[in-house]
This record gives sequence, structure tokens and C-alpha cells, in this order.
Amino acid sequence: VLKTSRAAVLTGYKTPLEIREFPLPQTIEPGAALVRVKLAGICGTDVHLWHGQLPIPLPVILGHETVGVIEELGHGLIHDWSGQPLSAGDRINWSSSINCGECYYCRVRPEPTRCLKRKAYGISYDCSVAPHLLGGYADYIYLRPGTAIFKLPEALPTEAVVGAGCALVTSLHGIERIGVRPGDNVVVQGSGPVGLASLAVAKACGAAQVIVLGGPPHRLEIAKRFGADVCLDVEESSVEERRAEVLELTGGFGADVVLECVGIPLAVTEGIELCRDGGRYLVLGHYGNAGTIEFNPHVVTRKQLTLAGSWGFEPRHTKAALEFLSREREQFPFEQLIGEPFALDRAFEALQATASWSTAKSAIAP
Ligand SMILES: [Zn+2]
Ligand SMILES: [Zn+2]
Repeated sequence: VLKTSRAAVLTGYKTPLEIREFPLPQTIEPGAALVRVKLAGICGTDVHLWHGQLPIPLPVILGHETVGVIEELGHGLIHDWSGQPLSAGDRINWSSSINCGECYYCRVRPEPTRCLKRKAYGISYDCSVAPHLLGGYADYIYLRPGTAIFKLPEALPTEAVVGAGCALVTSLHGIERIGVRPGDNVVVQGSGPVGLASLAVAKACGAAQVIVLGGPPHRLEIAKRFGADVCLDVEESSVEERRAEVLELTGGFGADVVLECVGIPLAVTEGIELCRDGGRYLVLGHYGNAGTIEFNPHVVTRKQLTLAGSWGFEPRHTKAALEFLSREREQFPFEQLIGEPFALDRAFEALQATASWSTAKSAIAP
């Protein structure tokens, strides 16, 4: 009997996801794994993909923030990326992309997140081609050889891992590049998943105060629960009012570090003005291409600013994120970001829930 797996498939931009059945692979390649999906997170990026804002092949099974249970392991896959033994029945998470390890950016100028042949589950694979099941919105997912797999500690809930999703790893990578030091005054622009995760990481790095500029109010409530010192609703305040408030809160100087987690170009114009002289600015929220803005470079020179960007994350950030969650979960309850999970056949509703920001984040439990 040929076993099959259902999957929610994006067949065309801005159209409902279709539930389709795919055959399970009959043999598992050496180093690969067949995994039963427990919970698949819906990332804001999935909404951008649905709108057609990033070039991807279609049809595609979306879903790049997933926790599952190993159904079958290919030959030779005996331990996870950290060296822990792996066996069928283990609950795992994995880095959503695989880099080639051989190109200019993998080897010569190590920037592996810019690997020339990087492929990501739930984004880069045409699901009409075998092994089909390379996205999280499905009963099963097939993990190709070379995937960085992590066995989850028993005490770490599935909901916390999916709730932190790719936002936490993205923030860990970005903040590693720009640096947050103990005693820093930090402004986080945005209170979506990346903003909340950046708030958590900045707090854990020892920031003296973290000021969150975001909305809507239910997200700012979560920011307060995560320890934000001050939250300003961007709908209820002007650019000038927010700047005055940040100056007031930083002795008139401005923030040591400003983290952009919004994805709206104008936020950058506002944000660099919130930095103190010699401050640091990170553009983290522009995974999608949201267009250009007018920009005065004089500000960067006069303020002696350091500007940085950060793209995606590496397996070591996934390892760090899982350790962060295990260590800091009391302080930062990421599981609370997820609403009641949707069944797989309601995947499109789940995607719409994330698109409309009606929940902090939605998830699918097949
Ligand atoms: Zn994502
Ligand atoms: Zn490469």
C-alpha cells in the first residue's frame, strides 16, 4: 500500500491554499529523514510569499518553522547537529535552510546565509517534483541530507519552539552582528515576532532599557510581558513625539542601539534619528523588498553611525535559539504568541489569521 501525506499547497499567488496528497518517499536516502509534523508555524514571510513578493517556484508547500517527530531515518543519520544520538520517535526542530558549503560565500568569505545555492524548506522547492514533501504545512516533511537537525529537550514545549519560530534565530543573528552590550539603551522598532524576539534577546544581553515602538495594543501587551521598559503605540504617536520620548528616556542623547524590525522603509529614516552619536543601527525587518525612500547620508556621517544588515540565520543560531528558549522560557514565554492551532485542512484560514494580525501568530497542527 502506497502511503500518502496531505499538504497545503500554494498553487498561485493570492489564491486559497489547496489541500493535495503526495506519496511518501518509498526509500529514505542516506542522511535524510522522514518526519511527522507536529506543529507548523506561520511566519509573516509566508504572507509575503502568498502575495508574490519574493521570487519562488510554484507550486510550493509553505512552512519553514516546524516541529516534528522522526518517522524514519536514512542510513548514517545517527546523531543531530550537536552530536546527540537520534532515533525514530525523537521530537526535533531543524534549520530551515541548507547551504552548499562549497561556494564563495560558504568557503572564501564566510557569509553562509548568502550561500549562492541556499535552499529553504517551505520556500525554495517545487512540490510537483519528488520528494515533494519539503514544506511544513503537511502531515509529513522530508528532510534532505545535510539538514541541521536538533533533538528537542523534553522540557521544551513544541509551542515555545514554534512560537519563537524563525523570528528568534533571525534576531540572534542580527544582534550578533550589531551587538547589544550590558547597559545599552535599546530601541526596537516593531512589535511583530521579530520585534518581540529582538526585545527578548536585547534584554537577555543586559540592555539597561528597551523601548518598543509598535502596535497594535495586544502586541504591545506581549512586549510588556516580555519586559519592555516603555512601549509606544505607533498609531497613537507621531514621529516627533516618539523621538522626543526616546531622547527624554536616554538623557537627551538617543539610543545606543536601534533595531529595525518593521519592514517599512520609512521606519529606517525615523530609526537612525533615534540613535545617539556613535550609535548602531540594524536593518533587520526588510526580508521582503518594500521599496526605496529618500535618505540623508549626512546623518550617518555626523552621528558617526554604524549601520548593519542581517539576512536569515545559520544552524548555530538555531542551536543558540533552542538553548535560549530552554534557559529563558520563564522570562520570555514565546508559547503565548501562538493561538489555538488550526487543522491542516484549514491552513488557508491560519495563513489569513497571520496576515490580518488577528493573533500574534498562528500555527497548524496536522
Ligand atoms: Zn520565517
Ligand atoms: Zn554555498
